[in-house]
Amino acid sequence: MTSPSHGAPAATAAATPAAETATDAAGRPSNFLRQIIEHDLERGSYAQRRWAGSPGDAAHQAAGGPDPARVRLRFPPEPNGYLHIGHAKSICLNFGLAQEYGGVCHLRFDDTNPEKEEQEYVDAIVDAVRWLGFDWRAHGTEHLYYASHYFDFMYRAAEALIEAGHAYVDEQTAEQMRATRGDFNTPGTDSPFRSRTPAENLERFRAMRDGQLPDGAAVLRARIDMASPNINLRDPSLYRIRRATHHNTGDRWCIYPMYTFAHPIEDALENITHSICTLEFEDQRPFYDWLLERLIEAGLLSAPPPRQYEFARLNVTYVITSKRKLRQLVDEGHVSGWDDPRMPTLAGLRRRGYTPEAIRLFCERSGASKAGGWIDYGSLEIALRDDLDEKAARAMAVLDPVKLVITNWDEVMGAGALDACSAPVHPHHPDMGRRSFQLGRELWIERSDYAAVPPKGFFRLFPPHTAADGTARPGNKVRLKYGHVIECTGATLDANGQVAEVQALLVPDTKSGTPGADAIKVKGVITWVGASDGVPVQVHLYDRLFADPHPDAGGRDFLEALNPESLRTVRALVEPALAQAAPGSRFQFERHGYFVVDTATPAGAAPVFNRITGLKDSWAR
Ligand code: ATP
Ligand code: MG
Repeated sequence: MTSPSHGAPAATAAATPAAETATDAAGRPSNFLRQIIEHDLERGSYAQRRWAGSPGDAAHQAAGGPDPARVRLRFPPEPNGYLHIGHAKSICLNFGLAQEYGGVCHLRFDDTNPEKEEQEYVDAIVDAVRWLGFDWRAHGTEHLYYASHYFDFMYRAAEALIEAGHAYVDEQTAEQMRATRGDFNTPGTDSPFRSRTPAENLERFRAMRDGQLPDGAAVLRARIDMASPNINLRDPSLYRIRRATHHNTGDRWCIYPMYTFAHPIEDALENITHSICTLEFEDQRPFYDWLLERLIEAGLLSAPPPRQYEFARLNVTYVITSKRKLRQLVDEGHVSGWDDPRMPTLAGLRRRGYTPEAIRLFCERSGASKAGGWIDYGSLEIALRDDLDEKAARAMAVLDPVKLVITNWDEVMGAGALDACSAPVHPHHPDMGRRSFQLGRELWIERSDYAAVPPKGFFRLFPPHTAADGTARPGNKVRLKYGHVIECTGATLDANGQVAEVQALLVPDTKSGTPGADAIKVKGVITWVGASDGVPVQVHLYDRLFADPHPDAGGRDFLEALNPESLRTVRALVEPALAQAAPGSRFQFERHGYFVVDTATPAGAAPVFNRITGLKDSWAR
């Protein structure tokens, strides 16, 4: 099977592929899935379905009334890890389409593999889908299902296939089976066990179930066509023997259904109409259809069967979306856990400060199409900015503080005086109120806002100096945002030659918002925090976890692409209003970007801030 997602990365696609730009009447970008659903609704393809209030076989559903859901979709995660941004795409697509078309989307745990599944993951998945803003309650029912609850039916379906001559127990070794499957150019050859009678097969299958055969000694296979050009139809395996304790069914079973057998059955039992999956499953579709037709013939499932549709999986630059590799990052301690704010998991993005709205916006903008490609990580940041720009309270913060002393403060303003300053919480929303802080003799500014010798085009603080051409230049004047204009007079260095303190003079009668404040024109405005009321806080300056846009391309060791600068922790100062900021609250730090109070901040402790993203893309070239 060719896997479009594992080859060399294609050229980075724009956030909105050209094919997605057509919009429907509601202004939503149209896509092939919407068209398919609209077509099915027009034709009434699924209008005759009956629903008895819960998943079940043909007899169960026949006893119910007409299905109240116009369409049914599902999001079927395997509970073997935390959900990531790629899953968010699938969640938004499935739950979103169900919402749009008067349908229901089921949350189904695809827990047919006993080995790697855990309750921790089930809980985290439920949490993440809820947080994204979706719900599986409809028509008085929680549509939360477990594939493992269908094991009895799956077993019954397997026996029905055996009885109808559509399946047989193969006792070749795994190597023999691989060798006789053939390849793209060579047809497969029949197993010597292929001609067993249904009665013999039933006996052997029950022996498998009853634990009479060791692990790996036999498999149940569909009897389809060993010469099919589609290798997936060359008698695929349906059941294997595996002694493993399952998180739901314990040790009740020692045989487990294969994913390709289980998945169509799960869909059918749940009355799913449109089963949407990623392109890797395209070659499985003929088997999906074959299996459901056989089980409808056997009277076990109701018609019409669900249909499978494939779309291109979401690939985001600088991000890894393989659960196995994400687990490796956690297990080997490269990150602090599944919810490390640098992880592309929904738990990580949430702690990083991403909003559900931003993630939904990003998923919607990335479209749904058959053409794969890469979405730039910057699109995710843009979606966050687009969401937060109108919502986030503004605040001043100094991330790399150096002290500034206004040496004439006492003369101009009075000894020990503090001057109250204020600013809107949000520049476009006066209703969000105002914030206040004090300007005094001493304050904190960004270290980078001062230069002893200004580089070309530098409009912030510099002292009187002699320029390269020999001319004497005065100290520069800048405005302290929401405060006065000051003129830089010099700086003191510490023992290491680092600036320890910057000095300036206040220019009287220039207070922002007072008459005549603009009499003196300045090119630079700098942000600051008062020494009297500034609050010291810890800030996590997060950056991309990987420094390479395609960390695992071409089977490369993705650990080598880890960005050594992905986390820098600094002591910063923020304005007083933020001292009590609650965990999870988000701010735009003026000039710096968007920040959130880490949800892991202990109650009562000074807030710890996470940088969500900067104000503009610092990675764009
Ligand atoms: P992984 O390979 O990381 O384990 P998976 O696809 O096996 O991922 P599942 O739990 O089986 O993970 O996925 C649940 C659903 O999410 C599936 O329908 C799958 O197609 C979809 N999905 C997973 N990754 C992506 C992605 N990158 N883009 C879109 N959909 C995805
Ligand atoms: Mg999977």
